[in-house]
Amino acid sequence: MTKPHDPHSDDTLSGPTDSGKRLMLGLRRGFRRKCPNCGHGFAFGGYLKLRSECDVCHHPIGEYRCDDAPPYFTIFIVGHIVVPGVLMMEQSIKPSLLMQMSIWLPTTVLLCLGFLPFIKGAVLGTQWAMRIKG
Ligand SMILES: [Zn+2]
Repeated sequence: MTKPHDPHSDDTLSGPTDSGKRLMLGLRRGFRRKCPNCGHGFAFGGYLKLRSECDVCHHPIGEYRCDDAPPYFTIFIVGHIVVPGVLMMEQSIKPSLLMQMSIWLPTTVLLCLGFLPFIKGAVLGTQWAMRIKG
């Protein structure tokens, strides 16, 4: 028995040679915070909360568990932005510790809060591409 064709689904990307395409598709859709399966419905119901299922294709988005991966990648990326900034500022104008803290602490918090939902979407897209649930 064959499944009816879902025009929003990309289950046709299932061969071994399509895994790279499927991964890029999942990353792109997830980074836009859209459903990785169809790319049309919203994957998030709030800032970081995943919807239980897609409104468009009814893909069970809530079954994916991103756990600690999004914060890990967020810290990794933000650290690679903030630490060189701190070091460059320290070597060039040698500001006081208070000035360094007043600049880089809010910058770090804002960058983390800004990146986290998009990185969580990308992790969701990666899990979709690799068919990792639960
Ligand atoms: Zn969908």
